[in-house]
Amino acid sequence: MFAEVSFPISSYQTFSYKVPDHLASKIAVGMRVKVPLGNRKVNGIVVGINKSSSFKGKIRKIDDLIDDQRVLNDNLWSLIKWLAEYYNSPLGIAAKAVLPSNLSTKYKPKVEVLVKVLPGKEIKSSIGRAQKTVYDYLKSLETDVPIKALSHLCSSPINICKKLAEKEMVSLIEKPIIPDLSEFAFKSKNKKIILTQAQNIALEKMTSSMDKNKFNPFLLHGVTGSGKTEIYIEAARHAIQLDKTVIMLLPEISLTPQIAGRFRSAFGDDVALWHSKLSQGGRAWTWKQICEGKFKVVIGARSAIFAPLKNVGLIVVDEEQESSYKQESPNPRYHARDVALMRGKLDNASVILASATPSMESYYNYLNGKYEYIHLKERFGGAKYPKVHVVDMIKESAETAVYGDIFSRLLLEKIEDRLSKKEQIILFHNRRGFAPILRCDDCGEVSMCPHCNIALTYHRSGKYLQCHFCNHTQNMIPSKCTSCQSYNINLSGTGTQKVEDELSNKFPNAIIKRLDADSVRSGINLTKTLQDFSDKKIDILLGTQMIAKGLDFANATLVGIINGDTGLFLPDFRSSEKVFQLIYQAAGRAGRGEIPGEVIIQTYSPDNPVIKCATELNVEKYYNICLEERKALMYPPFSWMVKIEIRGKNIKEVEKSINKIKNKMVNPPKGISILGPALCYREKLRDYYRMQLIIKSNKELDVNGAKLHKYYKSILSKDIGVQIPLKQRLVIDINPVSLL
Ligand code: ADP
Ligand code: ZN
Ligand code: ZN
Repeated sequence: MFAEVSFPISSYQTFSYKVPDHLASKIAVGMRVKVPLGNRKVNGIVVGINKSSSFKGKIRKIDDLIDDQRVLNDNLWSLIKWLAEYYNSPLGIAAKAVLPSNLSTKYKPKVEVLVKVLPGKEIKSSIGRAQKTVYDYLKSLETDVPIKALSHLCSSPINICKKLAEKEMVSLIEKPIIPDLSEFAFKSKNKKIILTQAQNIALEKMTSSMDKNKFNPFLLHGVTGSGKTEIYIEAARHAIQLDKTVIMLLPEISLTPQIAGRFRSAFGDDVALWHSKLSQGGRAWTWKQICEGKFKVVIGARSAIFAPLKNVGLIVVDEEQESSYKQESPNPRYHARDVALMRGKLDNASVILASATPSMESYYNYLNGKYEYIHLKERFGGAKYPKVHVVDMIKESAETAVYGDIFSRLLLEKIEDRLSKKEQIILFHNRRGFAPILRCDDCGEVSMCPHCNIALTYHRSGKYLQCHFCNHTQNMIPSKCTSCQSYNINLSGTGTQKVEDELSNKFPNAIIKRLDADSVRSGINLTKTLQDFSDKKIDILLGTQMIAKGLDFANATLVGIINGDTGLFLPDFRSSEKVFQLIYQAAGRAGRGEIPGEVIIQTYSPDNPVIKCATELNVEKYYNICLEERKALMYPPFSWMVKIEIRGKNIKEVEKSINKIKNKMVNPPKGISILGPALCYREKLRDYYRMQLIIKSNKELDVNGAKLHKYYKSILSKDIGVQIPLKQRLVIDINPVSLL
């Protein structure tokens, strides 16, 4: 008997090993093994078991099994193989992306001890007063209670309960505390939910598709506040009733504690959380518990799509347009939405892609009949869509004769008004730091990161310049221009820290909190800040795009967008889509309760069609404009795309390599076109120069993308003589979400 074993290394190969007799009855695909490789002992995963081996050389023996159970099931293994193939990643690397790095830890979660009355016991006269008090109390409850919850009855409930347990009057049960679940979940308020008719119709479609045991993808397009989350919960309940399991994907777990909290209160201990901040031990434990079938629902960010649940019946991808579902680096550069669809196919599950602003890809797929479309057009409970005011900042500065003010008069007035009414305010500014850049007013030179060629950002807290890409930090602020030696260098532009400063100057009595990548890095607990905002302990919440989605605060009645144009002019075909989605989503945070909301959008380009559609909150109009543009240029969703990038320290060498590839691309097949080679927008990152080639393939001539895959693989195959020097890196990104 022979086993094929895969390793987490940069090789596309698997290796054959002999299975010793004493392991033959235990070994199975999906188990990890210890084997010799070269002169080392390494861990690998069994990916196939065969009677014979075609390998001609010397075949070595497996030393031992690491697991006594499988850590992967068949469908998950098929998914890994697809992942490796589709995203052009070595099998071992794909497996590594899926499995926790160290499954062997001896981690034990903390436990909570519950106590329960055993039936049919008479109270003996010999028991003490405290024991009797506790016993009577427990008897009146008839449910398990955590021992901690008895501390109001006596000083040491644990000792009392132990004594009662010795007398066999109660039993003690140890229950593991699921790692991190409370840290990332809001205490949810229990409210009675009776689905509306629109919600019921949507739910009905999902449940009947689950009843049929067939793969079925949906696009749930529901305006913000239409009650999508309640639908997910009921659909999940149905899946569990059918003895199936559920994966709930969220763009970022620490920013969506409300959803985790709602699932937690609906499904209790059946829910596990899966995300990057779990400790290694917590991860391994959770993974193994999932393998053993202890959880029915897994909630998490993109990698939760690989949770080893069996019999998945429902996968929800919330805010499916979010670019955080795409793994940018390292390999495999997968998109969790696409993986969700593939997993749904393998598991015969219903897959719900949900959003108020679907991605162009999903919208296009719906138009082409690939997804069943469910549209929720109204907010729950008749909550009104907010009133939107657009402030033309150019006109504003002409009228006030001040250029570059952060706040318009209207925004200030409205903030004042809300503060006086004790209502809350959310402000968005999609750029962190203080004043993003240091610019010479004489020659225009901007202080750049020496490793990345990106403008350095000035940070007031600490007074330093920092590169937002590689974290290069410069503590000395230059006093004169490095290019023309002028002393006329000044801070220009506005980041969240500067907004915060101005805000506290203008409203000294308001309680203001800022949430952006900097405040996260400095260890501020996001969930706590959001909880505080929910509990009305904060007046103004200021943040970047990271707080634009998923939050539901009934008392937040004003949303201000400081600069609606941020990002609009980035050289990426998706930049306007992103700006639209951001404004629309941010506006959706306003007035989700009974009090109607207002939104103020400040812009320097009020006539730009993207800004116009976003301020009108007109999704269809914008999508039609956007699709037309994409079609004219044959950009996704009308084409498949592959980005081929070369990185290296020597620009001339990088150029040589990329041209070598380009030269192999003469006469591409019909429908395939090539852009570049060109320097990437961020042409130098962490000392590496970057050049890219983009290959597009018209979907009309290449329905499932197979033609494109065959083409780029043929171009990069060693047989046709393209070899990239070892010093350089070749990065292949299938359907990239960013060209920057
Ligand atoms: P979405 O996810 O579509 O933005 P939510 O699910 O967060 O919307 O719903 C918005 C608000 O309306 C939430 O506070 C939610 O609890 C409430 N809600 C939605 N549907 C119902 C319902 N059927 N009964 C009671 N409250 C509901
Ligand atoms: Zn840098
Ligand atoms: Zn200068």
